[in-house]
Amino acid sequence: MNTAETGTIAAILRKPVLLKQDLVAILAATDPADIERIRAAAESTLLEHCGPTVRLRGLIEFSNLCVSDCLYCGIRKNNREVERYTLSDEDIVESARWCATTGYGSVVLQSGERRDRRFIDSLVRNIHAIKDATRSEKLPDGVGITLCVGELARADYERLYQAGAHRYLLRMETSSRELFAALHPPAQSYDSRLACLHMLKDIGFQIGTGVMIGIPGQTIEQLADDLLFFRDLDIDMIGMGPYIPHAQAAMPPDAPLLDVATRMDLAFKMIAGARLLLRNVNIAATTALQALDPVGREKGLRFGANVIMPQVTPLHVRQMYTLYDGKPCLGDTASQCASCLEQRIHSVGRRILHDGWGDSAHYARRHAMNVPAAMQPPAIGPAQPAIPSHGARRVIPLQLKP
Ligand code: SAM
Repeated sequence: MNTAETGTIAAILRKPVLLKQDLVAILAATDPADIERIRAAAESTLLEHCGPTVRLRGLIEFSNLCVSDCLYCGIRKNNREVERYTLSDEDIVESARWCATTGYGSVVLQSGERRDRRFIDSLVRNIHAIKDATRSEKLPDGVGITLCVGELARADYERLYQAGAHRYLLRMETSSRELFAALHPPAQSYDSRLACLHMLKDIGFQIGTGVMIGIPGQTIEQLADDLLFFRDLDIDMIGMGPYIPHAQAAMPPDAPLLDVATRMDLAFKMIAGARLLLRNVNIAATTALQALDPVGREKGLRFGANVIMPQVTPLHVRQMYTLYDGKPCLGDTASQCASCLEQRIHSVGRRILHDGWGDSAHYARRHAMNVPAAMQPPAIGPAQPAIPSHGARRVIPLQLKP
């Protein structure tokens, strides 16, 4: 055992504020005792700031039509081998209703990217219909709705927020401009994606972002910068997982791919690093973790994650939403996924939050720190359009620590 290195990690974990070099050391740690120290510190930070519950979001992959061409992605526009689909409104609403009756308090509506009027109109219609179909005594405002549908115009984001969606996931994929440019065609820009994240936050969404871990050519320093990027953007949620190749992706062939074990170790250390740095954000143990390790999501929970997105996409389209090779749960019904999940979560000593939205404690704190409108100085400049604050209304302000 390398005692000098062990001493360094132990000392880093006692620091009240982590700097870039600390995050690099955490991500570079290889000694099993150090990795266990990092894991245990992340888990206890999670329990202190977010509690022991795991929050569920039923994942509805409602369409694989996409106008973008991210080079790593299996459903990119130029992959002609994908059979394209869009679920009917009935299938989408029924999947959400199933989530509500099963005790999942939230859903994620995810798809490829489209920016046409018809797409936005149908999404707005489905958000309303899901709310109507899932209101109950336990969920007076229906299920919580997270969207993950990519880059849109501000007016479209506003419509979706007004319709009742209150969380939005938009992964930056990497905070490195150079790496981003290597992974996307010139028409997809770093600045445009970043501008969307700022817009979403400004509108009032709880915002989530994330990166892929182990992208060919990515460095530990870039991953540490990703964590600092999350902090500087003051995000509420993180969804990140290992990069996994897809047979019909268009990745440049030159950079070598890290082996699975190294990518997974890095992914777990990234979850732990995010938890240690940001403390009260929601962090997902993503499906990609399970694709490379049958108990990858459980390990993600043990390294500080507190959100799981069980598959509820109808079986007849599930294999058409293949972002990377080896996607798990392709043949399991939503009920099979539900019962398997409960056991998996219990196996790591955690329990499910039933019938709740499970919003990010970070958002609650961010919102609680906003000065009440009555105490604010009069507005200067043109009036802003009235946008409902349903996201804010649902959160219970936490006790603020000094
Ligand atoms: N189109 C929307 C967007 O870009 O935000 C949402 C859907 S997109 C397919 C969801 C996420 O899948 C991406 O943000 C990306 O991180 C992840 N993904 C795509 N291809 C992947 C791959 N080969 N390995 C790991 N994750 C991948």
